[in-house]
Amino acid sequence: MESSKRVLLPQPIEAEAVEALKQAGVDTVLAGDPSPETVRPLLSDVQGVILRTGIKITGELMDHAQYLQVISRTGGGLDNVEVDAATKKNIIVTSNLGVNTSSVVEHALALMLALTKMLPVMDQAIRNGDFKIRYKGLPRDLRGKTLGLLGFGRIGSELGRACRELFNMQVISHDPYLSEDVRTACKGQVEFVEREELFSKSDVLSIHVPLTESTHHVVGEQALALMKSSAIIINTARGPIIDQAALFQALQNRKIGGAGLDVFEQEPVSGDNPLLGLDNIIMTPHSAALTKECVVRMAVEAVNCILAVFSGHVPPNIANPQVLATDRWKHLVSATDQ
Ligand code: NAD
Repeated sequence: MESSKRVLLPQPIEAEAVEALKQAGVDTVLAGDPSPETVRPLLSDVQGVILRTGIKITGELMDHAQYLQVISRTGGGLDNVEVDAATKKNIIVTSNLGVNTSSVVEHALALMLALTKMLPVMDQAIRNGDFKIRYKGLPRDLRGKTLGLLGFGRIGSELGRACRELFNMQVISHDPYLSEDVRTACKGQVEFVEREELFSKSDVLSIHVPLTESTHHVVGEQALALMKSSAIIINTARGPIIDQAALFQALQNRKIGGAGLDVFEQEPVSGDNPLLGLDNIIMTPHSAALTKECVVRMAVEAVNCILAVFSGHVPPNIANPQVLATDRWKHLVSATDQ
């Protein structure tokens, strides 16, 4: 590998990953902050970008990145990269699929359990000297309830397996893009249903779809009206999949039982967000994949994708594989062809 390669970090990444770049002879450029104003001039002489979620790499920013070869996301979502613009400029875009699955599954489970067992309420009651809250029968069980999964990919399917095995939950899912093979393999364990049925039958609705035009606000007023008044919604996917104003109304008017949110329409959540005043919601700051272990896994994998390209190999998880056919990249060899 040439030793003059430079990789821009709009936000810091873990020391293990920085060390891997250093060992490979790659220099890193750390932005002072991830704003477009700060990042734009730094793009002019880097070959790679390792991207967390603090900035969207737009076509306009790519116009300032004449030597950029590869944008490597530390996470799975690609909603903060204009992939079509990258493709037009023959920039490879990679993401990190599967590395955070188990951490997000654990987080969705934690939100589910914290809501049903009312952990924040119980904790606060003890601090207020109200031990007798234990007699009010407030917590609920998950055993035997119906888990509805919007999206049955890596995270959704793994959460379904865990809830079936741990709590004997009935698992239903809506995912129109699943192959017949996957549906057949799940026979007897998961029932695949239409979207309306998913909303109306779920005791726990957990969202695991990407943010796309078709999933934007897919959980809105109509969907919420179909849900049971005791149902809870868990969103660890992306905030705008839920119409937050409609969710606020449903929670405030007790049309649904509660919500556990890791993601929001506007991040960070501002101090005047009305969700903050509700007692039937639990929120975490987009931290599902940010466990100590997972951030290291994600950063190291993102580095591996960059180093693969720099050393003439096809990286894993390319979001725009069509660029591989261009003159710029047809020299790359597959890792299995070595
Ligand atoms: P995945 O690609 O494995 O699965 C997504 C599934 O959604 C696929 O099976 C796809 O067919 C399905 N789908 C797509 N459009 C749909 C639609 N309109 N209706 C129903 N199903 C649809 O992704 P994954 O690894 O399971 O991750 C799911 C989402 O979780 C990601 O897109 C990402 O946005 C989010 N995520 C969040 C965090 C976090 O920190 N909170 C971490 C990782 C992933």
